[in-house]
Amino acid sequence: ILLTILIIGMTAIDSLAQLTEEQISQKVDSVMQTMTLTDKVGEMTQLAIDMVSTPGAEPDELNEESLRNVLLNYRVGSILNVAGHAYTLDEWHSVIRQIQDMAIDEKPTGIPVIYGIDSVHGANYTMGSTLFPQQIGMAATWNTDLIREGSRISAYETRASWIPWNFSPVLDIGRNPEWPRFWETFGEDVHLASKMGEAMVEGFQGDDVSSPYRVAATAKHFLGYSLPASGHDRTVAWIPDIQLREHILPPFEAVFDAGVHTVMINSGEVNGIPVHANEEILTGLLRDELGFKGIAVSDWADIIYLHDRHKITKDYKESIKVAINAGVDMSMVPLDLEFPRLLKELVEEGEVPMSRINESVERILRVKFLLGLFDQAYHPDIDYSKFASNEHQQASYQTAVESITLLKNEAEILPLSKEANVLVTGPTAHSLIYLNGGWSRTWQGDDPQYDTPGKKTILDAIRDEIGENNVNYAEGTSIDEEIDIDVVVQAARESDVAVIAIGEATYTEMPGDLSDMHLPEAQRELVKQVAATGTPIVLVMVEGRPRIINDIVPEADGIVMAYLPAHEGGRAIADILFGDQNPSGHLPFTYPSDSNDIVPYDHNYTDEVGPLGFNPEWEFGTGLSYTSYDYSNLTVSKATFGADDELEISVDITNSGEMAGKDVVQLYVSDLVASITPPVKRLRGFEKVNLEPGETQTVRFSITADDLAFVGRDNEWITEEGEFKIQIEDLEQNIIFQK
Ligand code: BGC
Repeated sequence: ILLTILIIGMTAIDSLAQLTEEQISQKVDSVMQTMTLTDKVGEMTQLAIDMVSTPGAEPDELNEESLRNVLLNYRVGSILNVAGHAYTLDEWHSVIRQIQDMAIDEKPTGIPVIYGIDSVHGANYTMGSTLFPQQIGMAATWNTDLIREGSRISAYETRASWIPWNFSPVLDIGRNPEWPRFWETFGEDVHLASKMGEAMVEGFQGDDVSSPYRVAATAKHFLGYSLPASGHDRTVAWIPDIQLREHILPPFEAVFDAGVHTVMINSGEVNGIPVHANEEILTGLLRDELGFKGIAVSDWADIIYLHDRHKITKDYKESIKVAINAGVDMSMVPLDLEFPRLLKELVEEGEVPMSRINESVERILRVKFLLGLFDQAYHPDIDYSKFASNEHQQASYQTAVESITLLKNEAEILPLSKEANVLVTGPTAHSLIYLNGGWSRTWQGDDPQYDTPGKKTILDAIRDEIGENNVNYAEGTSIDEEIDIDVVVQAARESDVAVIAIGEATYTEMPGDLSDMHLPEAQRELVKQVAATGTPIVLVMVEGRPRIINDIVPEADGIVMAYLPAHEGGRAIADILFGDQNPSGHLPFTYPSDSNDIVPYDHNYTDEVGPLGFNPEWEFGTGLSYTSYDYSNLTVSKATFGADDELEISVDITNSGEMAGKDVVQLYVSDLVASITPPVKRLRGFEKVNLEPGETQTVRFSITADDLAFVGRDNEWITEEGEFKIQIEDLEQNIIFQK
């Protein structure tokens, strides 16, 4: 009976706030009637939590006087976490309750606050939450169902923290691994990133975002953030329109179609214009062309940077005018309350039209209504007992398992025997921090005091797997310095195999800028010295981007790419190393062989000319397995197809080995001749299939003229007549497209 009441109760709350667009717009209108200009500019302001807390006090003890000033005098409509540290669930509840109670009970309009946070791989700012592999690892699973489910869980745990707005996913395309936010992307491919982004937004928002288990997602960072010419974060990108439309825009369009409710603006400059000041992008493209209805929030302090960094305005007031007139709806972290004050002045002086303010406030209120915040701003009566449950941890484990990518397996060194005497070494072997990466409990994710007890490092998990007595451990090096390589070398001589866990330190944003793509010398030295003993080597790479390792690849018999697999990563790695799991991850980027060889797989033919050609360490889509898969019977439904046709493509895949496994069927299409140089191939479909030994499945794709289209000389998508090549694994078929 209790269960029935609970279910009925939950359903009631679930549907309570589900309103039609028309109802929402009526409600928005009636709230707008009650608002003064102060209320409106306040709604457009998003402050960091430290503006209302007292340094040194308990984390959940807000400073009442500051909170009053912010909410009641300035009518601030949104707050977010600062780059501080995670709160417990109880601390979150206390913080959110204080904020919402004051906003609703004491502000004249009673408008609830919309609290935002970066839950980029789980509710990572809540202590004890389930942490998932970072986005680059999610992409490596090529399994959209897993990502949708993981995002549902992240939404649940974020909403359990009473936070309804998530600044995720990143839809910027990861085509330059020098950029320190590469690991926050879904990698280099437009199609893969679009499908992953769509799944993530569906998982966050569900069908009804007013549900107390869902959050509003954010498509970030609009637009062109990931390709800074220097590779350094927040520096200028030069992106021609053809590339902007072909590579940068599609993942955003995919999540707009999936109904994402907010976008965050790119902090950098594109073609010499800071995006926060670019009306063509923020209004022309985003609103007029793409019809986006949600909130466009600035990135961190970026309106200030228009004069401070970019130097396109003379002072703060002019920056505000330019940004708001360009189309920014909400200013994230204006640092102080000058923003609403100056914005109000600008409106009174006629420098920012009232219509621009009304438009933004309507968008903000619409999302607040969609989220059900006006009905219930937080949910003390909802049972969130699945927070960090085994089921949730298991979903993270499965994502980690399916992301881990086997890149080399000479003489089938892997899987390792559980009887073997194993040396475990390397800087990432015994650290949760490095497995988690950035945005983990703190912004930089570098504080071990917030580690979740009981989680396993790679070393812990290997010890669990084969028993402590069979494992030798010495660190060897830190990320960039030698520690005890001599000890490691001695131990290697006495071991059957050396598992060397190498990789990167944790970093988020600018602190991760690099001057050299090579893996630090000390780590490469460790591998070389162990190799000199003749003991076979398995490298495990815990890194957010492909660091150059061409001098140690030949030294290793097995190479496993783990990305940033988070909390269950240690277990997942050990299970793969010892054959409890069959690897099924595939690279979502091209792994370059050297610093000057950063060329994506869908490059143009001219990128293959010259003595170096196109010569990556590993190609996009690579991923080995402990079993073998045979592809046969590639068929296409028509040899010639037209503008309104669908072309059916099918292929058989057989597990011809002895272990059950999953493979990713990848469909590529090449335009053989086009009016601008065509890329050598482009991914146009993929499916992850699960096969028992001996099992065969037929996988079907269907493509249309749109899948053959490209952005032509006039920056429009076109499909040209002619011959195209369809390719799956090593099978090929040519077709003719005729309008
Ligand atoms: C990042 C955003 C993030 C925001 C809020 C900024 O520095 O660029 O991706 O959502 O901070 O934490």
